[in-house]
Amino acid sequence: RKAGVNEDRYLFYAPQMNAQVSEQLSLENRLHRALEKDEFVLHYQPKVSLKDGTVVGLEALIRWRDPDKGLISPAAFIPTLEETGMIVEVGRWALERALADAASWRAAGLPVPRVAVNVSAVQMRRKDFLNTLEQALASHPGESNYVDLELTESLLMEDIEVNIRKLGAIREMGIKVAIDDFGTGYSSLSYLKRFPIDQLKIDQSFVRDITADPDAASICVAIIGLAHNLRLSVIAEGVETGDQMTYLRRHDCDEMQGYLFSRPVPAADCTQMLTARRTLVLPSIGAIERRRV
Ligand code: C2E
Ligand code: MG
Ligand code: MG
Ligand code: MG
Repeated sequence: RKAGVNEDRYLFYAPQMNAQVSEQLSLENRLHRALEKDEFVLHYQPKVSLKDGTVVGLEALIRWRDPDKGLISPAAFIPTLEETGMIVEVGRWALERALADAASWRAAGLPVPRVAVNVSAVQMRRKDFLNTLEQALASHPGESNYVDLELTESLLMEDIEVNIRKLGAIREMGIKVAIDDFGTGYSSLSYLKRFPIDQLKIDQSFVRDITADPDAASICVAIIGLAHNLRLSVIAEGVETGDQMTYLRRHDCDEMQGYLFSRPVPAADCTQMLTARRTLVLPSIGAIERRRV
């Protein structure tokens, strides 16, 4: 049997389909509807300076507000968006939404830090990705110099020469680039220095174990040293405890992000946080020996 109309593809059910396949189809179907009905939302998680405690960035993290199931985390639907190519459209939406939010905070006179958007490999591979960025920046010209993109290591290593050129063009637009989840991919260090990038983000798996596992701690210290030697800044993600923060500060990590300071919050809460000019209270390092990396 064959479904007659193209649009019926997702509704069509053949008895031989197993439950997993039909579940996947219904997820695709619901994601199409989510896009149409504007059910995606961005939450923002602050990045704070470990030098002075100020909020230096906001990472936009997508969620799906499903009318039946409530707020759904990106891990549950990003892979399907990538497999179907829908991530291109949703990613464009996220970029535009983040720029529009930043512009409205700025218009309200708030101290707006840099805003970071995550980019998937599927988006980066597209020939029109640079155009998409240019168009989004053109509709919010005041934001061009305050946008960061977060890309993963494995994405960059996919097509090195092409990506080096693309990143160069991206940075010429005023955008900064961070390598997300650093340490979990397979970066060739000799290529790392050729990528026109600005920041390494230490993956949260290393940060989580920093005070319990000396190997994880060594990896964090090594990444901080690597970043600084390549004249990049470095941020630790997933910082949940004061001990983790102290360790990172003592080892000269520039910034941190994590539940210790704030979970990702809806845009409205973010407005409040910026209005209150909330900062991270940095306990005095005091007598603690300031070890150099
Ligand atoms: P990511 O970019 O590495 O984001 C960090 C994830 O860690 C976020 O999960 C964040 O909520 C979570 N996190 C932050 N601080 C802590 C902490 O202290 N402890 C713990 N345990 N977790 C923390 P989230 O929001 O579920 O996002 C997961 C991933 O989904 C992101 O990882 C990113 O790869 C992807 N993603 C999110 N939004 C987008 C988007 O707009 N486009 C694309 N392409 N991917 C996105
Ligand atoms: Mg990220
Ligand atoms: Mg990350
Ligand atoms: Mg991550």
